[in-house]
Amino acid sequence: MSKIANYLRSHIAGSVSTRADWRASVSADAGILAATPELVVAPRVVSDIRKITRFAWQMAEKGHTIPVVTRGAGCGALGGAVGQGILLDTAALDTIFEYDGKSQRVRVQPGAPARSVAAALSMHGAGVGPLTGQRGTVGGVIAASAHGTLLSRATNPAEAIDQIEVVLANGDVMQTERLSRRELSQRKGLPGFEGDIYRGIDAIITDNAALIEQINPNDTSGYSGIARVKQPDGTFDLGPLFVGSEGTLGVIDELILKTEFFSFRKTRAALVFRSSSDAQAAIDDIDTLQPAQLSYLDAVIFEQLRRDGRKYAFYEAAAQQFTPQAVLLVTLDDFNNRTRARKQAKLEQLQSAGETIVTIVEDDDDEDVAAGFAALDQYRWPDAAHIGAPRLFEGFYVPPQRFEEFARALVPLARALQLPLPLAGYPSLNLYGVYPRFSLRKVSDKQKIFKLYDELTKLLALYDGHLVMSGGEGRLKTRFVRAAQNPDLTALYQQIKQLFDPHGILNPGTKTTLQARTITAMLRNEYTVDWQ
Ligand SMILES: Cc1cc2nc3c(=O)[nH]c(=O)nc-3n(C[C@H](O)[C@H](O)[C@H](O)COP(=O)(O)OP(=O)(O)OC[C@H]3O[C@@H](n4cnc5c(N)ncnc54)[C@H](O)[C@@H]3O)c2cc1C
Repeated sequence: MSKIANYLRSHIAGSVSTRADWRASVSADAGILAATPELVVAPRVVSDIRKITRFAWQMAEKGHTIPVVTRGAGCGALGGAVGQGILLDTAALDTIFEYDGKSQRVRVQPGAPARSVAAALSMHGAGVGPLTGQRGTVGGVIAASAHGTLLSRATNPAEAIDQIEVVLANGDVMQTERLSRRELSQRKGLPGFEGDIYRGIDAIITDNAALIEQINPNDTSGYSGIARVKQPDGTFDLGPLFVGSEGTLGVIDELILKTEFFSFRKTRAALVFRSSSDAQAAIDDIDTLQPAQLSYLDAVIFEQLRRDGRKYAFYEAAAQQFTPQAVLLVTLDDFNNRTRARKQAKLEQLQSAGETIVTIVEDDDDEDVAAGFAALDQYRWPDAAHIGAPRLFEGFYVPPQRFEEFARALVPLARALQLPLPLAGYPSLNLYGVYPRFSLRKVSDKQKIFKLYDELTKLLALYDGHLVMSGGEGRLKTRFVRAAQNPDLTALYQQIKQLFDPHGILNPGTKTTLQARTITAMLRNEYTVDWQ
């Protein structure tokens, strides 16, 4: 590898390193898998990415495959940003170029932290829904299809994209945007790889129209973005294909994102319920208020936090009266003060002595309630570094009409696995996760991770859910996704991958059914927290 490092070093502007400490620092994400790359490259300019992928392509043509694994902040939990070969770290590509208030667009590099972009836009009273509250990079959020949870804004990253620039597997650069029929014909007429891709994808869509129509919009596994490429009016945009593509189709090197006006005044409410069914009924009431955010947490999470020594006054007030079963956290962000006051009054009406305790605060001036909104993160990472609840079982979809049955079915599963399975999520989006804590030092716990994936996949199939709505599949979920997937759809996604990456150099192993022993060999003994 040092020969390759020297070659790349003499050709690119960014850093190239085989240092053990740097390689170790990017060998894991916030999940349970690790693999040390042979080489870390941090491009400074787009042409660096082009040279790296072109080099890997040329090597592959000579029969020597060197994987190129793209990594943002490594906040994902599913092993998508971890791998051997060349690790392409986008950290230095972190420029926020411009915000155009007129067109409400922001142009950024992929390595810009989502938080920095959100902070910069907040000065203009604007924001991008899916970037809000995210810890990763813009490229990582888009590539992992990490959904936003602000209900009045775009939640699916695909809705927030205007244009993307991508470096393809052979080093060519392609810009995506929505094209008219005529423009599509022009692109299909292009010589070279870009033309091949336009011709290939258009043919795939034509040949598989009925199959593509069956893709559920709540299932973002595989290359489900294919369903958004061609619209009924004949317009065509390859951008959606890169949402959730997890570095397997190309390297995103620049993005133009749609922004929306944001209100930064917040009313927050914490509601603690004696019974889960009351919480469910309240969810329906609160939904009619069109809150900015509504999250549901199993009270088991707060009970565990109490045992860990972390207490919240709003929860304690309820726990003195009854044994809580569920907590709802609500944010109102209406621009109009009177609207917010009216909604606040409706929330207050949900208070019921001995049954439901409602605590409402303005902005973030109440630290107790504000901290309560981060309770799940507190719960996920207790003090011992080998114990944690990473986002392995997060991001699944359960249809509202099946939710209660699904939640009930988790109870015997938790018993069978001897594992608490606290449920949390965003009921208005039907987006949930379960958060068991595992010790990475116990073989039995490691086995339970895979048993739980297996059982959860079966339950979701039974209740018309989908394992992957948000956050991608990485190296961990694909085996289970495919177990429940129509084999024709699996074949379609493989065709797409083959078209973009015929030599299999872009993030091999991600979105691939890996053998159990390959995964086992990558298992770690300690976690890295994802919320600092
Ligand atoms: C189910 C789930 C839900 C999550 N929800 C949240 C949440 O609500 N809030 C939160 O803060 N975090 C959340 N995360 C964690 C994490 O913040 C997101 O996954 C985030 O998108 C990761 O960004 P990152 O920069 O750390 O990407 P990484 O973890 O570094 O990479 C993620 C994937 O994107 C690919 N990738 C990264 N950059 C590029 C690029 N430029 N071009 C092409 N591919 C690229 C990588 O190859 C990898 O496959 C969630 C994670 C999961 C698994």
